Amino acid sequence: MSNESRLKQISDPTLMQTFSNQLRKEEKIISFVPTMGGLHDGHLSLVEEAKKRGDITIVSIFVNPSQFGENEDYDEYTRDIDGDKEKLNKLGVKVVFTPSVEDIYPKGFQTFVEVTELQNCLCGLYRPGHFKGVATVVLKLFNIVKPHIAVFGEKDFQQLQIIKRMVSDLNVCVEIVGMPIVREEGGLAISSRNMNMSAEERERAQSISKALYMIRDEYENGCKQVEKLIDIGVKILTENYIFNIDYFEIRDSISLELIKEAKPGSLVAVAVRLGETRLVDSLML
Ligand code: AMP
Repeated sequence: MSNESRLKQISDPTLMQTFSNQLRKEEKIISFVPTMGGLHDGHLSLVEEAKKRGDITIVSIFVNPSQFGENEDYDEYTRDIDGDKEKLNKLGVKVVFTPSVEDIYPKGFQTFVEVTELQNCLCGLYRPGHFKGVATVVLKLFNIVKPHIAVFGEKDFQQLQIIKRMVSDLNVCVEIVGMPIVREEGGLAISSRNMNMSAEERERAQSISKALYMIRDEYENGCKQVEKLIDIGVKILTENYIFNIDYFEIRDSISLELIKEAKPGSLVAVAVRLGETRLVDSLML
C-alpha cells in the first residue's frame, strides 16, 4: 500500500460532519489544525502539537475568500494541494478536509461573526473585514469538523486572541491552543508570503525579528517605557530601508489595548510592507 493512500481527503462538509460524528461516538478526541495550505514548517509544528493532543488529527486546507480584501492576494495565494497532502501523509495525518468555496459559501449565504473590539487595532485597521472573514470561517470549520481541540499559531497573534474571544463569547466547546512562531535560521518568521520576496528583500526582512529581539533585550535591561522601546525597533527597521511600517506597537496581550509601560507578557507587534509583501511578526516580553 502506498503512503498516499493512508491520508483520507474529504471535501464535502456533510461527509466531514458524518465522519466526525462517528469519531465522537467512538469517544475519539479530535484535534484540528485549520490552514490555507502552502504548508511549511510553521504549519507542521501545529500539526505535531495537534497529534500529541488528540486521537485523530484533522487538517483543513481552505483559502478563505472572505478574509481577503479587494486588492489583496487571494488569486495569487500559494496553492499546492498535492505537496500539502504529501507533507501531511508523512506526518501520519489521517484526514485532510478540503472544501470548495461553494461548499463554504453556498448561494444565499449571509451570516457572519464579528468580534467587535479586538478587531479594531493592529492588522484589523489595515485589513478591513479580514477578521470578520476569519471568525466566520473558523466557526464554520468548527461546526463541520467538530474538534475537541484546535491549534493555532502565535504568528497571527491578533487572530488567536480573536478566536479565543469568539469561542468564549459564543460558548463554543473547542479548546484553543496557541503555538510559538517558527522562524527561519536568520530569524524571519516563516510565512507562505516569504517566497514572494526577492533575495535582497528577504535579507532586509531579517531586521524585523532583530528589531523585536533588540526591544526584548532593552526591556530585560530595565527599559520599560513603550515609547523608547518602539523607537529602538523603528530605528533598526529604517536602518535596513524598511520605511513602510503599518504599525510597531506594544499592547496588552489579551485585551490588545495600548499600554505606556511594558510588563511581563506584553505583546510587541509589528507589520511592514516590503515591496509587494506584507510581513507580520510579534513577540511577548
Ligand atoms: P494560514 O495557512 O496562514 O492561515 O496559517 C494557518 C495556521 O498556521 C495559523 O494558525 C497560523 O498562525 C499558523 N502559522 C503560520 N505561520 C506560522 C509560523 N511561522 N509559526 C507558527 N505558526 C504559524
